[in-house]
Amino acid sequence: MTQAIDVVDVFDVFVVGAGASGLRIAGIVAKAGMSVAVCEARDRVGGRLLSVDPGVDLGATWFWQNERDVREVINEFGIEFFPQYADGNMMYQIPGSVQELDGNPLDQQAWRIVGGTQKIAIALAESLPSGTLQLSTKVTELKFDQGTDKGVTVITDRGVYMAKQVVLALPPATALANISFSPQLPADLTSIATNTPVWMGAVTKVVAIYDSPFWRKRGLAGSAMSHVGPLREIHDVSDVEGNFGALFGFSREGITEEAVTNQLAELFGPEAKAPRSVLIKDWSISQFTSPPRVDQLNDYQLFGSHALRESHLGGRLFFASTETSVDSPGHIQGAFSAARRTAQLIIEQSK
Ligand SMILES: Cc1cc2nc3c(=O)[nH]c(=O)nc-3n(C[C@H](O)[C@H](O)[C@H](O)COP(=O)(O)OP(=O)(O)OC[C@H]3O[C@@H](n4cnc5c(N)ncnc54)[C@H](O)[C@@H]3O)c2cc1C
Repeated sequence: MTQAIDVVDVFDVFVVGAGASGLRIAGIVAKAGMSVAVCEARDRVGGRLLSVDPGVDLGATWFWQNERDVREVINEFGIEFFPQYADGNMMYQIPGSVQELDGNPLDQQAWRIVGGTQKIAIALAESLPSGTLQLSTKVTELKFDQGTDKGVTVITDRGVYMAKQVVLALPPATALANISFSPQLPADLTSIATNTPVWMGAVTKVVAIYDSPFWRKRGLAGSAMSHVGPLREIHDVSDVEGNFGALFGFSREGITEEAVTNQLAELFGPEAKAPRSVLIKDWSISQFTSPPRVDQLNDYQLFGSHALRESHLGGRLFFASTETSVDSPGHIQGAFSAARRTAQLIIEQSK
């Protein structure tokens, strides 16, 4: 049974979602002296930053050199990072044939976080004033009382909150699928939000873990492009010291462990048939990331729409996931850039 939360004071800011964006906003507005609460539906922070034993990522894996907000956060919290392994040849698979080629499907140097990208979210969460974050608490309804200065009533499955401003730090389409709004949001905003794709929301990520990165001894980078599948693009995600080996790939199809290891064996040799484990994460059925029929949301031009970047209902409602960003929408950078924009707007409005 869940415990009820007492109705508390009126928070300056209420953030829905403890992913990269929501946690960053909470940290910035708290530093500016505002009171803030963050509710997270899952029993963990990070959202699409999800790292599991022995330190592999089932959500985001990389960041890139030019991503200034990501660099700022990892410098601020002293988070360790290392370059994506890319030494050696790649494999290329078409029906009936596998070839070894020069080069790598990654066209620029990517970077990884030691222990996995969820470390970023954990560091952000730990820096918040104690009591700010409530896990396992799902926001179900937002009530905007008539009159612009009346604040917002936030209804969750564990109690009710009051706030002056609310930030939806989750994909807009997911917010509209799971949260009801009273009064209803304007029709044009509803249409944009419900049609905005969820970045990576339709993919299945697969990680095969081995005792060692055995492909490196054969001069292979552990990367591959395949027109056969089930994995279409594959990369080495072994740990920084090479204590374990790991290969990851994306798929959109229903997938079995056997199909994965068969394909990896065709690409990298028979050792690939015997992984320690194969982890499969289908994000399309993850209710707090993806709305139903997420695979049908394909209008990527809606990313960073003006309507998703401005405030609504008299400055009381903001959208702030990576999908709302014009800078690297979809990436962790997009989430942090959206957080910076939203926090600035909130702070300016409060003056
Ligand atoms: C498989 C995969 C691979 C990726 N690879 C990369 C990569 O290599 N590099 C990169 O830069 N990006 C990558 N991304 C994208 C990156 O993970 C996202 O851009 C980023 O994590 C989004 O952060 P966010 O805060 O905007 O949203 P989210 O991480 O989705 O956070 C939203 C949060 O809101 C919570 N929530 C939802 N509904 C409710 C509710 N009703 N009440 C309370 N809480 C709720 C969710 O549980 C979640 O914690 C990848 C994503 C996936 C899925």
